[in-house]
Amino acid sequence: YRQNEASEIVVSTPNGDVYFGEHHPLVITAGPCSVENEEMIVEVAQRVKAAGAHFLRGGAYKPRTSPYAFQGHGESALSLLATAREASGLGIITEVMDTPDIEKIAEVADILQVGARNMQNFSLLKQIGKQNKPVLLKRGMAASIDDWLMAAEYILAAGNPNVILCERGIRTFDREYTRNTLDLSAIPVLRKLTHLPIMVDPSHGTGWSDYVPSMSKAAISSGADALMIEVHPNPKKALSDGPQSLTPEQFDQLIPELAKIAEVM
Ligand code: PEP
Ligand code: MN
Repeated sequence: YRQNEASEIVVSTPNGDVYFGEHHPLVITAGPCSVENEEMIVEVAQRVKAAGAHFLRGGAYKPRTSPYAFQGHGESALSLLATAREASGLGIITEVMDTPDIEKIAEVADILQVGARNMQNFSLLKQIGKQNKPVLLKRGMAASIDDWLMAAEYILAAGNPNVILCERGIRTFDREYTRNTLDLSAIPVLRKLTHLPIMVDPSHGTGWSDYVPSMSKAAISSGADALMIEVHPNPKKALSDGPQSLTPEQFDQLIPELAKIAEVM
């Protein structure tokens, strides 16, 4: 295990360096599931920046369960993310699904996301470990903690020490009321096992915007270093994950509530 080496990760963004780790303020990532068009991504970026976010999330390449669902705008969405980065000064987090795309995504992204469905795509992990942008490794939906830490180990072993772990819910028996079961107990467990920073995604973790505020607070209280929250200007019209997305107004209300629990800035 190399997982005693990095206890903090520094990511430089246009707005300055952002530190992830136990001894740093909470880092907030927010934005839509998918980058839909220039107007919406720039608007969300400016709104979440004004509310206190540090990173903009947004998918250009989307891992969708159905091949007939919106797959993301791909390369053209990458240039929209670059525009939003300029306009807001926020760092960018976006998903890499396929090894040949790593280089062009790394030109725009400040952090490369590996999604739940690719957590054990070992050839992708090896290649992403060979480049130097920090990596956000989401937990696979049926991954044990050991599976997840070993997946992180692939990236570390390939030479990239900057891995952030993201709990995003696991599959359990109840899909009626929650999309996934957000495993908050993973936070203190990981704290014992690894020094890698821990992010929590209550949006994918629950699947419903109503539950995002309470699970965000619980994640902070359980020791999370960072949060990832989906925000869309018009969730009802979203091309993906509308039901779990907060509006910018709801996000504005949430941040001061989170700040009561955590130091945010
Ligand atoms: C996402 O972050 O939009 C996403 C697809 O997440 P996950 O890989 O956790 O399902
Ligand atoms: Mn999503």
